[in-house]
Amino acid sequence: MAGKASPMMAQYHVLKERADDCLLFYRMGDFFELFFDDARAAAQILDIALTSRGEHDGKPIPMCGVPVHSAENYLARLIKAGCRVAIAEQVETPEEAKKRGGSKALVARDIVRFVTAGTLTEEALLEPRRANVLAAVCEVRGTVGIAACDISTGRMELEECAPERMGAALARLGASELVGPEDWNEAPDNLIARPRTDFASEEGETRLKTIHGVATLDGFGHFSRPMLAAAGGLVAYLDHVGCGKLPLLLPPVERAGDARLAMDEATRGSLEILESQQGGRKGSLIAAVDRCVTGAGARLLADDLSAPLTDADAIHARLAFVGWLHEDPLLRADLRSVLRALPDIGRALGRVVAGRGSPRDLGQIRDGLSEARRIRDHLQGKPDLPRLLEGLMPALGGHGALVDLYTRALVASPPTERSQGGFIAEGYDASLDELRRTSGNARRAIAALEAKYREETGIAALKIKHNGVLGYFIEVPARHADALMAPDSGFTHRQTMAGAVRFNSLVLHEEASRIAEAGGHALAAEEAHFEELIAQAVAERHGIAATADALARIDVAAGLAERAAEGGWARPDIVEDRSLQIEGGRHPVVEDALAVTGDRFVANDCLLAPSDRLWLIGGPNMGGKSTFLRQNALIVLLAQAGSYVPATRASIGLVDRLFSRVGAADNLARGRSTFMVEMVETAAILSQATERSFVILDEVGRGTSTYDGLALAWAVVEAVHETIRCRCLFATHYHELARLAESCDALSLHHVRAREWKGNLVLLHELAEGPADRSYGLAVARLAGVPPPVIARAKTVLDRLEKGRAETGGLAAGLGELPLFAAAAEAEAEQNDALHQRLRDLDIDALSPREALDLLYDLKREAGTDV
Ligand code: ATP
Repeated sequence: MAGKASPMMAQYHVLKERADDCLLFYRMGDFFELFFDDARAAAQILDIALTSRGEHDGKPIPMCGVPVHSAENYLARLIKAGCRVAIAEQVETPEEAKKRGGSKALVARDIVRFVTAGTLTEEALLEPRRANVLAAVCEVRGTVGIAACDISTGRMELEECAPERMGAALARLGASELVGPEDWNEAPDNLIARPRTDFASEEGETRLKTIHGVATLDGFGHFSRPMLAAAGGLVAYLDHVGCGKLPLLLPPVERAGDARLAMDEATRGSLEILESQQGGRKGSLIAAVDRCVTGAGARLLADDLSAPLTDADAIHARLAFVGWLHEDPLLRADLRSVLRALPDIGRALGRVVAGRGSPRDLGQIRDGLSEARRIRDHLQGKPDLPRLLEGLMPALGGHGALVDLYTRALVASPPTERSQGGFIAEGYDASLDELRRTSGNARRAIAALEAKYREETGIAALKIKHNGVLGYFIEVPARHADALMAPDSGFTHRQTMAGAVRFNSLVLHEEASRIAEAGGHALAAEEAHFEELIAQAVAERHGIAATADALARIDVAAGLAERAAEGGWARPDIVEDRSLQIEGGRHPVVEDALAVTGDRFVANDCLLAPSDRLWLIGGPNMGGKSTFLRQNALIVLLAQAGSYVPATRASIGLVDRLFSRVGAADNLARGRSTFMVEMVETAAILSQATERSFVILDEVGRGTSTYDGLALAWAVVEAVHETIRCRCLFATHYHELARLAESCDALSLHHVRAREWKGNLVLLHELAEGPADRSYGLAVARLAGVPPPVIARAKTVLDRLEKGRAETGGLAAGLGELPLFAAAAEAEAEQNDALHQRLRDLDIDALSPREALDLLYDLKREAGTDV
């Protein structure tokens, strides 16, 4: 029947229209069904069968479905694949539908919820050690407001920044979903557009006041118009995806930009704080540092590392707490073993408040709160409690009445499913106990009845069974059925099966009714208790969340203390001047990686002071320059996050902004960066770094031709030295830059050491003072497996070039790289015809040094490689 949709399909289309950017999960009995393109997409992502149902415009309608009881699994995979899902439930029973519209009436359905990456609360859909952030962003009169929340725990924060700092602020948040007004020209990527009217500051303020039941937000912080506008957009979006049911939202916290160490997106990426550049946690800083034993601790640590502090007092407080636990391994071990067993009460609370809580969530809240009290009692008597911990003590206690209530009300391990009942403890409600007794008695009566009937009929195989269709019934093998069929037997026939016949009896019917009735009442009673218990948790949500936070903070401190003890890390001194004195510093990630193969990491000092604040670092490829640069940035970051650091001693003059840049040349091999990006990023540093910043620059200026690159690198170093005057480590292959030491008094020269031994290059990974003596290019090439005849030829050319260099008066030492590059490229050239041709036609001896240098960089670009 072309063009005319069935009533069900008509209902489907109405719902689908409201969820056109989502996959629509359409509830049909025990399944969620998907149709049309949704079905095609889901079948492919989930790898499930695509079938069809009915017709639309003369064609079968594609369909696939997932069972309701295992829907979470499928949802998780769809969300991971970047989909959004709308859940359309049956909002009345088939009986209700019939009563309303006759026997053919369609069951009413409605979208009850949207499942999106940023609005998850289900345990199965969330990563335990990672916050799941939803953010809203908008611009109000030239200022950007950002509202962010993790609805799995209710944490919410508001901040504002200048438009040019929006990227950095959003990078820190790492939101899994970002919403903003639809008509915004400068909108960040991946923005989900929402109506502009959602982003009104008055509306936002009113919503927050209503949610938290306050007349003014002043008690929470001072929120600007842009912050409130963003908050309005956030709450409106939550309203939309929850279909009117708001999740847990704790009072907003103001995140003042300057209270945190600022890092832009490029810096975060290059320092691999929460994720390595390959993606994933492996190889990241957090993977090397995190020893937390709870998910909430790991999430808080990630937050600490993403936004280290800039306030010395606050950093000292964290360090003192870590130090206290560092000095007491027994206490630390005790605490960690208690914490390890703790449920994630923050997330359990999130589900409860979102209306998706289970009896198990309540059980978790009970257990978590009562353990928190035990931890408090355990710590209370300890001497010299650190200030930070003392501040947490009140949050660890409290909730006595709630814990008592839940202990009395709930069984020891309540189930996740509440529809079957069985979670309210015995003794909590006398009438519930009575109902249970009644049905228990009736069950026993039925068992007794079975024995009685067996005896009376003499049929040993007689059984009383139960199923969903018939309820209780008596079953005998077919050959014995006749005896029960007799009209005066007291049994009534119900069903004849292949080998058995089923009967009922008056007594059985009565007992069965007692069970059903008592069972129904018991379920209703449990349900009512559940609602009351939920209401209690909702009423105490702020206190419970504070306990969850306190436990997480303890876990972070204990985890950091554990990490420090494990790695022999030192407690950094935080000072207010502009020095950076790190002795015996190590790179935590590289050190861990080396340890796997039994290799030792060579520790190095970084001693910057106002009079010697810019170190220019040279030395061979693979010598350890990048590692040295990054380890010092990471040590600053760790220290300001309140952690011990991988060094023998560290004194950190507070840093306000941290910048890390890798030049295009260094990144070229990975096919990532371009010279343009490099220059844009360098420009950002030059405009944003202050005297209190710390900047690491790795091979900046190498992505273009020699003279441009050298000139740029030169000018950048000068600007950093003269104008910005910040602390800076600058790694470079340009030997010419060494001449800057003559004019820049706070600049000094350093290099990573290498030695040639019996014709082999030995990289010592050791930093030494003074300029790099030579480039060891040929030795590196030999290490890389360039054939010996080519190396020999390169040596000849090198000698000639170096002579030429002496003649032209100190031209780039990078010249030495030409024959080396030619040699390496030749080895690979078979894969690159054009390059091969150029190399064959090349008469190195005939080139002037200047021509040789330009040619070198041309060739490098052509080959897309760096040697
Ligand atoms: P390039 O100029 O090619 O970028 P680089 O001088 O920056 O090289 P890195 O990338 O820092 O060198 O280091 C190369 C490798 O050397 C590292 O992957 C690591 O295995 C090892 N290494 C670096 N520093 C050390 C150290 N301090 N101790 C031991 N091994 C180290």
